[in-house]
Amino acid sequence: MNLDAFPRIALFDAPTPIQRLERVENALGLKGARLFVKRDDLMGLGGGGNKLRKLEYLLGAAIAEDCDTFITTGARQSNHARLSAAAAARMGLKAELMLTDTVPRDDPAYLHNGNQLLDGLFGAVVHHLPRGADSLAAAQARAELLRAEGRKVYVVGSGGSSPVGALGYASCAAEIEAQEAELGLRFSAVIVANGSHGTHAGLAAGIDDPRRVLSFTVLAELAEAERGTLALANETRALLGRPALEAEHIGIDGSQRGEAYGIPTEAMLAAVRLMARQEGLLIDPVYSGKAFAGVLAGLREGVLSGDVLFVMTGGTPGLYAYQPAFSG
Ligand SMILES: *Cc1c(COP(=O)(O)O)cnc(C)c1O
Repeated sequence: MNLDAFPRIALFDAPTPIQRLERVENALGLKGARLFVKRDDLMGLGGGGNKLRKLEYLLGAAIAEDCDTFITTGARQSNHARLSAAAAARMGLKAELMLTDTVPRDDPAYLHNGNQLLDGLFGAVVHHLPRGADSLAAAQARAELLRAEGRKVYVVGSGGSSPVGALGYASCAAEIEAQEAELGLRFSAVIVANGSHGTHAGLAAGIDDPRRVLSFTVLAELAEAERGTLALANETRALLGRPALEAEHIGIDGSQRGEAYGIPTEAMLAAVRLMARQEGLLIDPVYSGKAFAGVLAGLREGVLSGDVLFVMTGGTPGLYAYQPAFSG
């Protein structure tokens, strides 16, 4: 892999640790499986999370192109938007966020707490768009306006899931393989939540055997998630000079999505509580909570065995926007 050919800025201390969750293993009564987590939530900038890996390459590209402004899109409680604001602040760029009211909620916690609170603290200019709006088109239009004023603008869509952004997780795949060598083990599965596909696609672009990567879609319906993830994985592999993958290389599970993106499920609430009460660790209600519910089900049913790695992707500010869901 020629990852070094791409401009990158350092936004967190790598490698993030891999830790074993023995108390969860015991609570599940596991035999023949061990559960590990990769702590991609453990990053010092802006509250941390998986989007910082993508932003290392996205802001790397923006700075290489001499940009002074970074515009991106997302849902109102987007972790990617929050981390874009933090990383742009850290690098001295202006951030503008085009946020869509994707989730049908208008309670104060959702509208103003969690990531919303932090976007403002990090000094981002926030634009709110109605449900169903084309936020990328709005971002492009805003960029044109700013360019006419002489600004140099970098635009990336939701989740930072362009091929350049996905390079962050191709790099993470190499990091995981190096840690496997140190630990003297090989994970049977590397499991992530799948929203805008970049995390799964990047891992599949960088890892030795892409069939080891498994994701739980929390946003797109299954067929669309499969199509989008394969396409992005192959665009990313093309950047890296690696051969294209086939559909059979992309394993996605649609069982944890529930009603829609951002709508809690009982299994998510139980998974967040289990992680908190057994390990004192926080996972988020929109992504990792649903994916971890899928991991727990897979371990209980024996579908997952051997050494299993769950990638903790951060997003815990989202918990504060979901206070009503947890107080029931
Ligand atoms: C964005 C996000 C994901 C999913 O990553 P994608 O690359 O969008 O698929 C998972 N967990 C958290 C906390 C996220 O914010």
